[in-house]
Amino acid sequence: MPATDAVPRPRGRTHPRPPTPLDAAYVTRRAKELGADLVGIASADMLNAFPPDPRWPQTPERILPTCRSVIVIAQRIPAGAFRCKSNTPVQYIDMLVLRKMDKVAYRIAEDLEAVGHPTLVSASQETEWAYKRASYGRLSTRHLGVEAGLGTLGLEVNILTPEFGPRVYLTGILSELQLEADARVTEQVCIGESCSRCLHSCPADAVLHFGIDKRACATEAQAFGFGTMLGMFDGLIDGKAEVAALFRSREFFGFWQGLLRVVGSFGDCPRCLAVCPVGNDYHAHLAEVQKVIPEKTPARVALGKQYKAARTTYDAGEGPEIAGLNDWNRRWVGVDGYQGIVARQMQEFKRQQKERSEPVRGAP
Ligand code: SF4
Ligand code: SF4
Repeated sequence: MPATDAVPRPRGRTHPRPPTPLDAAYVTRRAKELGADLVGIASADMLNAFPPDPRWPQTPERILPTCRSVIVIAQRIPAGAFRCKSNTPVQYIDMLVLRKMDKVAYRIAEDLEAVGHPTLVSASQETEWAYKRASYGRLSTRHLGVEAGLGTLGLEVNILTPEFGPRVYLTGILSELQLEADARVTEQVCIGESCSRCLHSCPADAVLHFGIDKRACATEAQAFGFGTMLGMFDGLIDGKAEVAALFRSREFFGFWQGLLRVVGSFGDCPRCLAVCPVGNDYHAHLAEVQKVIPEKTPARVALGKQYKAARTTYDAGEGPEIAGLNDWNRRWVGVDGYQGIVARQMQEFKRQQKERSEPVRGAP
């Protein structure tokens, strides 16, 4: 243990200085102590070698060339928000979850720097304008999560964690410290086409076959986000909107509220998160209330069946390529395919539930 911190830590920090040399077990334990719900470590070399889309590489080396490891933490979104009648509670709680997650990540970065390892927290919600004209950050947190062994991508390409399904936010902490990486999950966590509940519930018909139409999704997920703001000002410039009417419009109010509290500018639409049956939080708090999907239509059911048939032929080495499941992308979907993780998890959940409800032998 060094006699002094490499970088002085803030006054009042009572946590003992991290041991040296630092290892992955310590970092994981510390992140959980600080409040992270899930923690995994990904190798920067691996992330640099496998960007989600090589045409626009979201890689750590483009941010910090000397990065060796990315510590990925996930914070769950409390399930209560997905039981509400309106989307607003989810929008508000999303912001609280992100704030908490950033604080946890910041403390980890501080700890690592204190013993001499330059470390920084990446922005979990950002868009790099130079990459693509959609929500597309310098790093893809969902892919970071998969590389760090926290889950696999679902039909709607959210990351699905076995513990909390897609109801999580993630962030990456970039460090120059070399840490042992966690193994990727090779079993597909998503039930797949035979479930298609996310597709059935999507108000924007944005769920593709292990892919997403981000622009369509943004109309619901960022109802008062950047696109709406641009539309308002475009209307003004083109003379289609009157200034006074614009300032008194629902859109302008939504934009203002988004500036103040983030509410409305992202994560507006919780539908694909709410209905996904992966995770014990779903079994405990959502299964009953989300069982029926009111948005389900015959057309959406037919599309799910079409996806299923296409997958069967594609997996048999026939039929056209499915982009989301091609050789490059399958590593994030789960190379071994679906093997019943959700059914196993539900059986275990029910067993534990029964155990809890049974009277303890010998108890009065
Ligand atoms: S967030 Fe909403 S609009 Fe976007 S894919 Fe999910 S259900 Fe569809
Ligand atoms: S709702 Fe079903 S198909 Fe969609 S991501 Fe969840 S498990 Fe996969």
